[in-house]
Order: sequence, then structure tokens, then C-alpha cells
Amino acid sequence: MKEIWIFAELAGDGIRPVSLQLLAKGRELASEIGAMTAAAVIGGDEKTHSILSEHGAERICAIKGRRDYRLDTHARALAECIKRHSPHIVLFGATHIGRELAPSVASVLHLGLTADCTGLSMRGDSLIQTRPAFGGNIMADITCRTFPQMATVRPNVFSARRFDGRAEIVHVDLDPEESIFEIVEEIKAQREGRSIEDSRIVISGGRGLKSREDFEMLEELASLVCGAVGCSRPIVERGWMPKSAQVGQSGKTISPDLYIAVGVSGSVQHQAGIKSAKKIVAINNDPSAPILDIADYALVGDLYELVPALIEELKRER
Ligand SMILES: Cc1cc2nc3c(=O)[nH]c(=O)nc-3n(C[C@H](O)[C@H](O)[C@H](O)COP(=O)(O)OP(=O)(O)OC[C@H]3O[C@@H](n4cnc5c(N)ncnc54)[C@H](O)[C@@H]3O)c2cc1C
Repeated sequence: MKEIWIFAELAGDGIRPVSLQLLAKGRELASEIGAMTAAAVIGGDEKTHSILSEHGAERICAIKGRRDYRLDTHARALAECIKRHSPHIVLFGATHIGRELAPSVASVLHLGLTADCTGLSMRGDSLIQTRPAFGGNIMADITCRTFPQMATVRPNVFSARRFDGRAEIVHVDLDPEESIFEIVEEIKAQREGRSIEDSRIVISGGRGLKSREDFEMLEELASLVCGAVGCSRPIVERGWMPKSAQVGQSGKTISPDLYIAVGVSGSVQHQAGIKSAKKIVAINNDPSAPILDIADYALVGDLYELVPALIEELKRER
């Protein structure tokens, strides 16, 4: 039976959410071609295996090895495992690790790879890998000529789901190899505020805000609801917010429970980043702004009146 593999990326004592999102998508694709979905994990334990099973893995390729990531040993182990089992498709999250590991595995095995996909579908046995191309001006559908077909996929494009049933565990014991890398020191990246990918509430500001200082108003609103502040691309181009806060096609794809777009018109490029947001609230003084077409709730009016009023109301409720 054909297999669709998801590389399960471990983070701390858990699994990166994108791996679980890809398992759910893998199940959907597998059902179209009568395949099964498997997770490939290196150095996982029982807890890891049960999470993968609950999230859709029908088989787990439990590769023996060190849990913490090293490019050389991970790439060799995964490549060897792929050679032995010949899956039909292998998917990685487009995380820092996935973006480094997937091309290394592809190069060891002389395979093609589509990076940073924002959509996946099947046409017969071919995986259609959709991603922005030519600076984001077009969306390209790409197929691989080599097998397994390999892609990295952006986090939060798909949603994780829970499934019944227990995965079969296949233990893969490879010859142990030492990494040539030695970690001398780990320095945690300094992050200002919450990250927009991990927050359940994201409040984004667009060109409707007149100055960098006006973002303090959004920061205050975000702090009252334990949310994060994002923005549209022109705000990053003006240097008012970091690139890591940009929502959209050439920025981040996010799936918060609540997305509040303040003075954002809702261009197609911006909308591409919030397709899986659960509820969208738009604050805009133009009743014909495209963001209102996809918003669940709209506050039509001047943001300089509406946002302070919301802040006051939230403070009063407390
Ligand atoms: C290849 C490519 C990739 C791109 N990628 C991205 C991307 O990843 N993310 C992204 O965001 N954009 C992206 N863009 C840019 C995108 O096309 C739009 O230009 C951008 O999203 C517009 O940003 P905005 O909504 O902040 O500004 P505008 O379109 O100018 O909208 C401002 C909004 O604020 C409202 N407003 C003004 N004053 C007030 C007020 N006082 N009260 C309330 N509302 C007010 C206006 O009615 C308007 O709707 C990309 C473009 C290209 C070509």
C-alpha cells in the first residue's frame, strides 16, 4: 500500500503543531489514493507516539536516534529510512528545521523538493504542490518528477484533527552515527511581545494607522486580551513593525481563534494569511473594504474612536 509520510518534528517535550496539521492533511490526501498516513519520528518516546496516533498517524516509523536535532544524523537516518520503505510522498513543516532538513534529505536521495507550499491536492497519483511564485505575484501548481514526492509546507495552512484508532509502530534501528556538530552554546532569540503564530488572539494594524506610535494603542488592546500584534506589509515596509509580525502571502500564515484587523483593507495577499482564522473582526471606516466580505463582525467607523472605546470597555469589565 502507498504511504504518505509526515516528518514529525519534536520540540521540547512535544511535537511541532505543523506536524500534526500535516498528519490531518495527509489523511485527507491518502483517502483519495487509497494510501495510508505514516509519521516518521527520530528519538520519539511512547508519549510522542500516542500523540501522533491520536492525530492521524496510521503507522509510526519510530527511528532510533538522538531526540535533539542534528542536521547530518537526522538527514542520513531519514534518507536511509525513505530508501528502505519507499513512501509515495514525504511532507515536512516549513519550520527552521524542516527548511534545512528536507533539502538535505532530497539531495542525499537525488529527489526534487517543493519548498514553502501553501496548498496540497492530488491529481491521480501526483501531488499538486501550490506555492507563491515570482515574488508572490502568481500561485504556481508544481508536481515532482521524482518519487517520493517531497514538499515543505507552511505552518497553519491546515488544521490538526483528532482521529480514532491506534497506529502500528515500526521500530527502525539504524547503525548509530555520531554527528560532526557539537553544540557549544545555546542562545535563545530575544522576542519582543508574543508571536503571532502562537497566539489565540491577533490584532493587526494596517495603513489606516497614521503613525508608528499609534501601534501602542493596539499593543494595549492586545495586552488586555493576551493577544499578539501583527500588521500588513506596508507597515513592515515603513519600518514600523518587524517582518516577523507581517500577516499574509509574503508574511506569516496564522490560524488564531480571533483575528482583529484594524485599518487593514483586506487585499488578497493579506487574506491569504488568515484563511484559517476562526473569527475575523474588521475595524474599518470604509464599508466597501474587501476585509468586510470575509469578516464575521465589522465595526464600521474611525479606528481612532473605536479602538480606544474597546480598550475602555475591556478595562471597565475588569
Ligand atoms: C507579491 C505581493 C505580496 C504581498 N504580500 C503581502 C502580505 O503578505 N501581507 C500584506 O498585508 N500585504 C501584502 N501585499 C500588499 C497588498 O497588496 C496590499 O497593498 C496591502 O495588504 C495593503 O495594506 P493595508 O490594508 O494596510 O493598506 P490599505 O490597502 O491602504 O488599507 C488601509 C485601510 O485602512 C482603512 N482606514 C483608513 N483610515 C482609517 C480610519 N481612521 N479608521 C478605520 N479605517 C481606516 C481604509 O479604509 C483601508 O481599508 C503584497 C503585495 C504583493 C504585490
